[in-house]
Amino acid sequence: MTAVLDETRLSKNHRLVYEIVQEQGLGRHLPMSELYELARTRRPGIGFTTVYRALTRLRDLGLVSELALPGADSAYYEIAGPEHAHFRCTECGHVDNVKFTLPHEVCARIAGELGAQVTGADVSLHGRCHACATASIAS
Ligand SMILES: [Zn+2]
Ligand SMILES: [Zn+2]
Repeated sequence: MTAVLDETRLSKNHRLVYEIVQEQGLGRHLPMSELYELARTRRPGIGFTTVYRALTRLRDLGLVSELALPGADSAYYEIAGPEHAHFRCTECGHVDNVKFTLPHEVCARIAGELGAQVTGADVSLHGRCHACATASIAS
């Protein structure tokens, strides 16, 4: 999938949401509710639906990644970047980037077994983050 980088075609509101996600940088994963709060500090009066539609459009354009992680109440958003996996803490909900991609041979084998075309993979791990793991040992 190639990203459409012609940002000039984005509306003002969409561009604002894109800027906010971009400012977070790769590795920061924010739920829609937090992005909405950030958008409101920049443009009071912006609607929840507007922010949601902007995120959907940016995702469809390949500019923003939407992650639906098992156990999370809502999707997280991050700026599109190199493919990576995620680790989600089941206690505090923190999400970290993990440098991992499924090896090409594995994808090719699975595709062969299914007789399907594999176009992508979302890998997520879960457990306790360092802070939560050490806190539970201390108590
Ligand atoms: Zn944690
Ligand atoms: Zn990520």
